[in-house]
Amino acid sequence: MKNYDVVIIGGGSAGLAAALEVNKNGVKNILVIERDQELGGILLQCIHNGFGLKVFKEELTGPEYAERFVNMLKEEGIEFKLNSMVTKINKDKTVEYANSDEGFIQIQAKAIIITTGCYERNAGAISIPGNRPSGVLTAGTAQKYLNIDGYLVGKKVFILGSGDIGLIMARRMTLEGAEVIGVAEILPFSGGLQRNIVQCLEDYNIPLYLSHTVTEIIGKDKIEGIKVQKVDNFVPVPNTEMEFEVDALLLSVGLIPENGISEAAGIELHPRTKGPIVNESYQTNIEGVFACGNALHVHDLVDFVTTESRKAGEKAAKYVKGEYKDNVERINLVAKNGISYIVPQMVSSENVDKTIELFMRVTDVYKNVEFVIKQDGKELKRIKKKHLAPAEMEKVILTKSQIEGANKEITIEVEAL
Ligand SMILES: Cc1cc2nc3c(=O)[nH]c(=O)nc-3n(C[C@H](O)[C@H](O)[C@H](O)COP(=O)(O)OP(=O)(O)OC[C@H]3O[C@@H](n4cnc5c(N)ncnc54)[C@H](O)[C@@H]3O)c2cc1C
Repeated sequence: MKNYDVVIIGGGSAGLAAALEVNKNGVKNILVIERDQELGGILLQCIHNGFGLKVFKEELTGPEYAERFVNMLKEEGIEFKLNSMVTKINKDKTVEYANSDEGFIQIQAKAIIITTGCYERNAGAISIPGNRPSGVLTAGTAQKYLNIDGYLVGKKVFILGSGDIGLIMARRMTLEGAEVIGVAEILPFSGGLQRNIVQCLEDYNIPLYLSHTVTEIIGKDKIEGIKVQKVDNFVPVPNTEMEFEVDALLLSVGLIPENGISEAAGIELHPRTKGPIVNESYQTNIEGVFACGNALHVHDLVDFVTTESRKAGEKAAKYVKGEYKDNVERINLVAKNGISYIVPQMVSSENVDKTIELFMRVTDVYKNVEFVIKQDGKELKRIKKKHLAPAEMEKVILTKSQIEGANKEITIEVEAL
């Protein structure tokens, strides 16, 4: 069996950044395994710009951002395998993968980094009455058809869900000559970034129907139309139906971290993020197995994925070199009122150099509020926030001494000003 110091599962932006950081920290025996025919992950189909503002101080397209990392990986001579699907990881850190050249292979790793990204919720995951004719597909699939394969999936399109992929596809389909009739969002607020609402809908006069959903799909073999209805607390309001003739319905109803192999290996997942529960070093409950990027929690900005994955890579390298302290006291990072989750979920000050960045999402839209951070129930600090929305990931930085000051937990909550 072949041995590697670090095996990285997934060659998207998280996997590439993690691999480069492992290498930079002096651990050279690395393998990146990617199931697709190219490295780069989801970025390859995101041909719009808006990537890299923080990491490169430049506005790049997704493929340009990915290319920079792929080139660095090649320059450093880091080994990678394409068209190779990881089917299993085991607690002893053996990894099983398959491809058409080598067949079924088992390798031994000292450390593993899981960077498998996320998948889109599909029609089967949401309950819309009616048939499932052709023309109903996820926004990401439509994006891949259009941007990579060159197919326009419809000429009269409606989008269900206002997640970022749906908003970006509303603009993209319009620019390619399709008529985007509208976007319906079941919640009273959008699931996408504010900048995408403005740049992808408002700039093209595409209506956004908040507190609305699709209640019927019309058509047997091919979609012919949809019924859209207002909702009150998720329940359709009678006599509010609108009927639209469409030839495509795109679903942008959420992304879920891809963790089938993690779960099968016994990695504990968080009920909210659906990604692994990790400590300050992005290590899961299995020693030497780390996770980052969209497999850990869904990110809206690739720059955050890169920063997080560099940290996971650095810690995995430390683990291999025997410099990582696992047998240490940890405190919990607990999401309270108004906070949906915090990543990481626990922290040891011993593995924090000077500061640690905590990522979180809020549960609702808030205006003029404060984040209240408490150490074991005692107030530590307050941070004023003018506007918070679940679609936008928030960041709070704690210092090493602030963590050292807590015995059991640090909590974060939202409080009105
Ligand atoms: C449509 C869309 C638009 C976006 N727009 C922006 C934007 O404008 N600006 C911005 O900054 N960010 C944007 N983002 C966010 C950002 O691009 C992503 O969060 C980031 O690229 C995710 O990187 P990742 O490596 O975690 O996941 P991915 O890029 O999804 O990579 C995961 C990789 O793992 C591979 N994989 C999965 N399972 C296995 C397995 N079992 N074996 C082998 N390989 C496997 C997959 O094939 C994939 O290549 C956007 C995201 C999306 C989806």
